Amino acid sequence: MTDYPYYVKEKCYCIFCENYFNEFKEWQKNEGTDFVRNFDIIGTDPRYFQCPACGSTDRERHLYLFLKEIGELDKFENKLILYVAPEINFLKKIAKPSMNFICGDLEPEKYLHLNINPFYKIDLTQITFDDATFDYVIANHILEHIPDYKKALAEIYRVLKPKGTAILQTPFSSLIYNNFEDFLIDTPSLKEKFYGQNDHVRIFGLQLFDDIKQAGFHLQIYNHYEVLPKFQPSIYGLNEKENLILARK
Ligand SMILES: [Zn+2]
Repeated sequence: MTDYPYYVKEKCYCIFCENYFNEFKEWQKNEGTDFVRNFDIIGTDPRYFQCPACGSTDRERHLYLFLKEIGELDKFENKLILYVAPEINFLKKIAKPSMNFICGDLEPEKYLHLNINPFYKIDLTQITFDDATFDYVIANHILEHIPDYKKALAEIYRVLKPKGTAILQTPFSSLIYNNFEDFLIDTPSLKEKFYGQNDHVRIFGLQLFDDIKQAGFHLQIYNHYEVLPKFQPSIYGLNEKENLILARK
């Protein structure tokens, strides 16, 4: 559905659960420090974070719309897809019997409630699958949690088949080139203060894109207004500054 019906009084619509409501739930975890705000990080839009009905997040909704609109979702048919830290609303929306998902996370115990079987323990810096196994790897907002992310990029490249695709949406700042990180920022409260979230390990700068290319990928970048001009961010709960970044092997 792309056209918002004139007779609906509510201001927002969730493409996943198809409910109308007045506002998305804001990102509640923290208010953010001035230090972090200066980086103008492109990631989640905290204003439109979560659907009050199904709990879907802006990054799940945006990823789904991007992939659907560019025709990439159709290519998931009969493919083997490694989905790390799976997001349940996105997965439910796209999964079909004709698609083969391998799901896993570094902390599989956190996903028990989803009843995904099997569910693998997956450390992206040492993936326990053979070279050239997967057609897709999805790691949506994961790299910012990984200390050795260059190792993770190399591993993702290794397990992808030739012409395979990695989906590596990651918050970053376009105001800096070098990543900002410091080994003394090593407690949850310091990480929250300097990186904006207590489990992030850096703020990525534009070097992230060169690092992805350095790992061997070529990048295909899609802008919200090129691909999704009909989807007004405030209605559909999306961050229009977030591009879709596909890393192709
Ligand atoms: Zn919803």
